[in-house]
Amino acid sequence: MLNLNDPSLLRQQAYIDGAWRDADDGKTVAVRNPATGDTLGTVPHMGAGETRRAIEAAQAAWPAWRKKTARERALILRAWNDLMLANADDLAAIMTAEQGKPLAESKGEIAYAASFIEWFGEQAKRIEGDVLEAPARDRRIVVTKEPIGVCAAITPWNFPAAMITRKVGPALAAGCPIVLKPAELTPYSALALAMLAERAGVPKGVFSIVIGDSKTIGAEMCANPIVRKLSFTGSTQVGRLLMEQCAPTVKKLSLELGGNASFIVFDDADLDAAVEGAMTSKYRNMGQTCVCANRIYVQDGVYDAFAQKLTAAVAKLKVGNGMEPGVNQGPLIEEKAVEKVEHHIADALGKGARLLLGGKRHPLGHTFFEPTVLADVTPQMLIAEDETFGPVAPLFRFKTEDEVIALANATEFGLASYFYARDIGRVWRVAEQIETGMVGVNTGLISNEVAPFGGVKQSGLGREGSKYGMDDYLVIKYICLGGM
Ligand code: ADP
Repeated sequence: MLNLNDPSLLRQQAYIDGAWRDADDGKTVAVRNPATGDTLGTVPHMGAGETRRAIEAAQAAWPAWRKKTARERALILRAWNDLMLANADDLAAIMTAEQGKPLAESKGEIAYAASFIEWFGEQAKRIEGDVLEAPARDRRIVVTKEPIGVCAAITPWNFPAAMITRKVGPALAAGCPIVLKPAELTPYSALALAMLAERAGVPKGVFSIVIGDSKTIGAEMCANPIVRKLSFTGSTQVGRLLMEQCAPTVKKLSLELGGNASFIVFDDADLDAAVEGAMTSKYRNMGQTCVCANRIYVQDGVYDAFAQKLTAAVAKLKVGNGMEPGVNQGPLIEEKAVEKVEHHIADALGKGARLLLGGKRHPLGHTFFEPTVLADVTPQMLIAEDETFGPVAPLFRFKTEDEVIALANATEFGLASYFYARDIGRVWRVAEQIETGMVGVNTGLISNEVAPFGGVKQSGLGREGSKYGMDDYLVIKYICLGGM
């Protein structure tokens, strides 16, 4: 079915304390290919007991892992990075089979995912403390940074590899063990990564994967006092719940939650570049990323020209099975996702939006959807406040800079935003006033391992990637030396 160079990378068991395991009660669930509806295989359906054991194994593995020198940890991470790149074709095939994204995008994600392992391995050697000027002559003030301890991570299906390495990379580099629950829809990408981590020399218990019931696994991760930190990427709704569940044990949290990215095209923009940026930002992963443009605001003077150019570009997208060459739009992840897209389109059309392209399910069936462009979209429509998470570009019209800044900020979310303009004064003014953690200026692609990824407002807490990403896995210790 899946033709891999190394078939042993397709694991159908969870990975706990360095061993491949079934659920205690033997229960399994099927994993499906969204492009064909075929069953790829099964994975164990685990619960609280297995999760607890993985957490306890992590605690047992922690002392030896933190005692390693930064260089020793870095060399293991380097080996893992190299194995990921050497097996990129297989990892990409597994990803496209379970997630649906085009093979070229999967390959891009594997390189992106590996970059976090490489980056944080390098950063392990740069965890630096401080010596501060003391207020008394007989004292010295020393600040050290220590690994926070056992970590837990819960990740989504839209980036089945990169969302994992963005958490596991810094945890391991900092000297923390970590227990992961990947999304139930895309477990095979996670398990293949664990296989390669084991081959790279990650010791048993330092990185475990539990798969199964998200509610009970999540509840155990949050309630267990051994776990000192939880890192989650997913919906704001689940993020709020996890935050609540972590309150009794006061865990440190990293949350990458929902977005509602604005994409603004000003009159002075390079329109062709703006169309290219909008295509990348909107239609990558079929619109299923938390930094996808969700609201495209176009200034009056260029509105019609931009709408026409964007529609022409979208019409060229090729929908199909991501395994086929030339395809750049795969299926949506599941039926529920298609229903949300349909609901947003129907709501917009019912309130006066104009359909420029697409708008319905694709003749290929399953969860394939036609790339869609809507004009005359207004703030009263559902699409303005809720993330569509699908291939729909809604075009709003605006007149002034102040007006569009107010519109762009009128959301509880604050993850990413984009705008196209050439006037340098405007570039600074708008970049400073937009309430998001990340701003793309004249680009639709902002994610990389060197930059701090994260949001403000209800889009989350903490930063992933970059030198700042390590801080989420460290605690500060102040040592006061007296009696000098
Ligand atoms: P999405 O809309 O991207 O599926 P979710 O927040 O539902 O976003 O899912 C992201 C991750 O959170 C997945 O791994 C999912 O299994 C997990 N998840 C969903 N509900 C819960 C929960 N109640 N407790 C813990 N994890 C959960």
